[in-house]
Amino acid sequence: MIKITFPDGHVREYENGVTSMEIAKSISEGLARKTLSAEVNGEVWDLARPITTDATIRLLTWDDEKGKSTFWHSSAHLMAEALEVLYPGVKFGIGPPIDHGFYYDVDLGGKVLSAEDLPKIEEKMKELAKRNVAFSRKSVSKKEALQYFTDKGDQYKLELINNLEDGSITFYSQGDFVDLCRGPHIPDTSFIKAIKLLNIAGAYWRGDEKNKMLTRIYGITFPKQSELDAYLVMLEEAKKRDHRKLGKELEIYTTDDEVGQGLILWLPNGAAMIEQLEKLAKRNEEKAGYVRVKTPHIAKENLYLTSGHLPYYAESMYPPMEMEGVKYYLRAMNCPHHHKIFGALPKSYRDLPLRLAEYGMCYRYEESGSLFGLMRVRGLNMNDAHIYCTEEQFEQEFRAVNDMYLNYFNIFGIDKYVMRFSTHEPSKLGQKYVNEPALWKKTEDLVRDVLIKSKIPYVEVADEAAFYGPKIDVQIYSVIGREFTLATNQVDFAQPLRFGLTYMDKDNQPKTPLCIHRAPLGTHERFIGFLLEHYAGKFPTWLAPVQVAVLPISDKYNDYCAELINVLKNHEIRIFFDNRAEKIGRKIRDAEVKKIPYMLIVGEQEQTSGTVSIRKQGEGDQGSMTIAAFAGMVEKEVKSIFQ
Ligand SMILES: [Zn+2]
Ligand SMILES: [Zn+2]
Repeated sequence: MIKITFPDGHVREYENGVTSMEIAKSISEGLARKTLSAEVNGEVWDLARPITTDATIRLLTWDDEKGKSTFWHSSAHLMAEALEVLYPGVKFGIGPPIDHGFYYDVDLGGKVLSAEDLPKIEEKMKELAKRNVAFSRKSVSKKEALQYFTDKGDQYKLELINNLEDGSITFYSQGDFVDLCRGPHIPDTSFIKAIKLLNIAGAYWRGDEKNKMLTRIYGITFPKQSELDAYLVMLEEAKKRDHRKLGKELEIYTTDDEVGQGLILWLPNGAAMIEQLEKLAKRNEEKAGYVRVKTPHIAKENLYLTSGHLPYYAESMYPPMEMEGVKYYLRAMNCPHHHKIFGALPKSYRDLPLRLAEYGMCYRYEESGSLFGLMRVRGLNMNDAHIYCTEEQFEQEFRAVNDMYLNYFNIFGIDKYVMRFSTHEPSKLGQKYVNEPALWKKTEDLVRDVLIKSKIPYVEVADEAAFYGPKIDVQIYSVIGREFTLATNQVDFAQPLRFGLTYMDKDNQPKTPLCIHRAPLGTHERFIGFLLEHYAGKFPTWLAPVQVAVLPISDKYNDYCAELINVLKNHEIRIFFDNRAEKIGRKIRDAEVKKIPYMLIVGEQEQTSGTVSIRKQGEGDQGSMTIAAFAGMVEKEVKSIFQ
């Protein structure tokens, strides 16, 4: 007998040689039907593979990322089989699962594949899936493996096999199709119910442009047709919401080659949003006892040698500029400047916690190929702050930072998020991690405690902390399911020491403070990119670049409009006056396209009665009101955010 330990710590005994499938069945038939693979002693295995030692086991279903990977990897094999049937002589590179689906790189000889060929391949895959054949694993010697693919004439697989150790090679087959593969795979092809091949791209063999260009076919599969349908709807929606597309249509930002790639130029609409975000941040930080500072974008080399950014981080920084024999760098982080400000202020325990806040501009080198809209840029404006506190104050400070996050999530309607809590590995203290065992334990325990008590969804990842302390990465998901790393919270035991920062404690002894780095709203670049996709450009009134469009039916009412605009401006409402000689229907349509929250229609009736007719974006007619009542209503709506 062997002992099998389940994720909840439960232990059960089974016959030696039991398979994960049999274990799943011993729990319930229903579970067995949806189990795709199993993690056995930390390694993902086929369900049919016998277990011959005591083991920990986790049964993987479609709900687990690793279960999905197994499913998509198996689907790549199914696609390869279909290609082999349809295009005899096709040769195969690699076919891995990816975040959403899978691909396979193939060499079709002279045949050029186009999008029109994809439905035919999908059909063949469906037909093959229905046969319900098992994916079976077989160990082969290197000699056998080489022989098989020599006979088949597949030089790509031969190249892969030549790099493998004899004794470690396995083949997987379903039906007549055999592939060189480490696995694991799902039990059989019948699990694959819904199939969509998404697109075709070129890819150099092994990513090397000196090699032959292969055809990469991307696809995705699901265990249910309804899930595929939902996914395709989401893809369409994602295209419509792409922040690069909306950013252009709504005139939020642009870039210019003469300014430099990855350096964002905010257009008036983008700048108006930035003003509102900063107002929100400043209001909340002021309430939470932060003070604001202003620091330069550049500093001398020495500052970054002290902080340790140089030489380790040099590759991520813009190269230095030299002046008066001294090297200056554009800063990649704001912290060193803030540490200097701490150093310049009085530092008794009574002055702590000291919370220094700044929307600080940083510059980072990113390869031009990896730049992406507002998401990956070379200049970033960060909602930064550094909190200097005593060990005793840490818990309360961390809790307050956490509450600020939750408040923002609430304001922006972000209901899907997860915090990734990275901790240290005690055996690596003094090497990978600063050697402060007691502080590590204490702060990690406190952070975990706050996360549990506030019922925040989080995952704990061991051995991924920063050198100088535990960290939390905040991942949020837009409505279309795209994942964004919004910000990182870090506890820092090392920097204050490197900068020689101290305060006098109650006994008049110098002590080193802890530092918390936090940036709940991330950077303007990434956050506005997220908000564009999150709201599909339909921003709430407080955030919308233009809040009210004033639309006269003809220029006869321009004077009355001027009176209205005056009132709106006195209430700090951002307006657009459409005085073009267009029909009112056209003006309304254009304001709808610009996603302006309110439209005021102004004609004879409104002028005579001293009112305005109100339309709400996407909702149509809202009746009429006096301008004072309307302005008061909008002002109230906006103020509720900044209270
Ligand atoms: Zn494979
Ligand atoms: Zn920092």
